[in-house]
Amino acid sequence: MNVSLGAQTDVGRTRETNEDGYLAEDPLYAVADGMGGHRAGEVASRMALEALAEVEPDDGPHSLPERVKAANRVVHQRASEDKDLEGMGTTLTALVMDGSEARIAHVGDSRAYLLRDGELKMLTEDHTLVRRMVTEGKLTTEEAERHPQRSILTRALGVDAEVDVDEMTVRLRGGDRLLLCTDGLTSMLGEDRIGEILRSDSDPQGAADALVEAANEAGGQDNITVVVLDV
Ligand code: MN
Repeated sequence: MNVSLGAQTDVGRTRETNEDGYLAEDPLYAVADGMGGHRAGEVASRMALEALAEVEPDDGPHSLPERVKAANRVVHQRASEDKDLEGMGTTLTALVMDGSEARIAHVGDSRAYLLRDGELKMLTEDHTLVRRMVTEGKLTTEEAERHPQRSILTRALGVDAEVDVDEMTVRLRGGDRLLLCTDGLTSMLGEDRIGEILRSDSDPQGAADALVEAANEAGGQDNITVVVLDV
């Protein structure tokens, strides 16, 4: 399947640095949202994306989760060697196109969505404390969205020597639109609004730019990163 790409990353309106990053090297796409003191978050997201992009000759699309685990080891190793980078970590939501399928590997609270026949569907599950509390029936989805501690992660890349990676595969159809995004988008815009913007701009770069602009208009309280893929 051919894909056309739109991508954008922005510091937002309140942060001083952009600790998000994205990768778009066909057939591999990813977003990462780093965390850590000083500039450690920036280092973590950049290192994870670089490690992911280092494809060995025998790496097929099936190896994506293994490559995410390898990226985890690279970030964790660096964090344990450098006192300034201690405890750094990053989210990583990665997608590789494999014929008529998209394979996704995911750690953290960045997200992958599928827009099909006008309907927006979330493909990933957030690895956050509030999400766990929703699963346990302690919070509603609406309460979780406004919860002051909604960004506390239960899983991140680089924090421990090993990491569990969620995997999923989507069988694609012509006309599908995929979105990878960091929480700077989803914390500022509800899914209804995200779906509306994705439906209203048929150009993937136009849609990516419009999403970032809308998140900034809504406050831009975090770094915002989006990758839009049209199949
Ligand atoms: Mn963020």
